[in-house]
Amino acid sequence: MSTQAFPAIYELGPDFYNEVEPASFPKAILRYRNQDAATQLDLQDLSEEAWKKHFWGFESLPQNIKKPLALRYHGHQFQVYNPDLGDGRGFLFAQFLRDGKLLDLGTKGSGQTPYSRRGDGRLTLKGAFREILATEMLESLGVNTSKTFSVFETGESLVRHDEPSPTRAGVLVRLSHSHIRFGTFQRFAFLGEAENVKKLVQYCIRHFYPELASYSEDEQIFLFLQKVSERTADTAAGWMTAGFVHGVLNTDNMNITGESFDYGPYRFLPHYDPHFTAAYFDQTGLYAYGRQPSSVLWNLFQLGTALKLASPQLDVEAALADFGDAFNFATQTRFLKRLNLRNPLLDEAGSQQLTHQLIMHLFQFLDKSKALFEQTLFDLHSGVAPDRLTRSPQADLYKIPEFKALENTLDSFEVLDEHVMRHPYFTNTRPCALLIDELESIWAPIAEKDDWTMFEQKLAHIRSFRGVY
Ligand code: AMP
Ligand code: MG
Repeated sequence: MSTQAFPAIYELGPDFYNEVEPASFPKAILRYRNQDAATQLDLQDLSEEAWKKHFWGFESLPQNIKKPLALRYHGHQFQVYNPDLGDGRGFLFAQFLRDGKLLDLGTKGSGQTPYSRRGDGRLTLKGAFREILATEMLESLGVNTSKTFSVFETGESLVRHDEPSPTRAGVLVRLSHSHIRFGTFQRFAFLGEAENVKKLVQYCIRHFYPELASYSEDEQIFLFLQKVSERTADTAAGWMTAGFVHGVLNTDNMNITGESFDYGPYRFLPHYDPHFTAAYFDQTGLYAYGRQPSSVLWNLFQLGTALKLASPQLDVEAALADFGDAFNFATQTRFLKRLNLRNPLLDEAGSQQLTHQLIMHLFQFLDKSKALFEQTLFDLHSGVAPDRLTRSPQADLYKIPEFKALENTLDSFEVLDEHVMRHPYFTNTRPCALLIDELESIWAPIAEKDDWTMFEQKLAHIRSFRGVY
């Protein structure tokens, strides 16, 4: 199959972006090349030199975007509207058409743009390292996420107040289904440009929701909002079942395809705690683990409000009415998948109730026992196997009374996939997790002696269970 480069972004025109110059960096040290993602784009055979030319030097790809485009957007940051955003340290570099859907390569840390404000347009190497691990881990846990495509260390040194400084710099390339954010719509609503809102809806439908093509414009806008809501509900359910806290769920970090992206101060839960907050600057816990579903719903309302400029009679509440059901359904499906279980009941209402009970008992157990989140899902994979529970590092916790209720409910379920049950990953006693202490301990040898061994080992471990969830 040949690469069919397709710079669809030009359909939108110059109101949507600024042409920008990439930074030139003193050094190019390749730290990460995602060969699976490259294969998806038919770029797997690029030589090291060519990879560097494009993903460090940002020389355009053949028949693709001619000059990098900093995308324009606004957004609500911690629920406060900020009209001063946009790609301040990144740009759209290239686009591809695969399976009828558009894929973007966008950058992070590639230099200043008109939207940099007082920022340096750079990304710390540690930030790049964290984003690689987040995307790899979320992909293995079955979450709909952007992928990290490439990372070069650039030889620059940066000053940051939240990292020991000076600190090393990197430039990252991200692969995702669009870089159209809720905030991209909000900007046009703020500027009162109804025609551009319509144009953007058409672009999104053409490239990501083609099933809506035949409806009238007002119907399309309603259905578009509904689809984005459905996908976003599933993504939020994905975070909840992965024990993941994104950290900064601002509307400029929400993709209209529902793909999770932009991993800054994220964390994985050690143990179940709805108040667990990832970002040190999130002082009220707005984006805490348990508030993620309501935060993204709030964001969907902002998207709906922006769309009203193009369709004044749009009933935003009606379009978002199914969010709760979609979230609950996705949470049930995803927890069952994580546990490799199948609900045996055929009657739909009874079946949902039984799965609901399972999740409730699971959370009650997690809450009461303070058991490790990932370890528990790992130990209970494919149901209760007494030998697996006894050799678990948290075996004692399975003796508390709350476990009995969970065990009884688990016993009503059947194994979903026997093959997955026998995956060698489950012969281990501990799962692959990504808690903050481990992240720091993998980073330490890189920072101290440029030793990437632990990092490479971690990537291999994360990939060892891909396809299981
Ligand atoms: P984020 O919190 O990464 O989603 O970024 C929020 C906004 O700040 C976006 O407009 C970014 O482009 C911008 N930004 C973040 N870091 C930098 C930086 N170092 N230089 C310039 N702009 C930045
Ligand atoms: Mg962002």
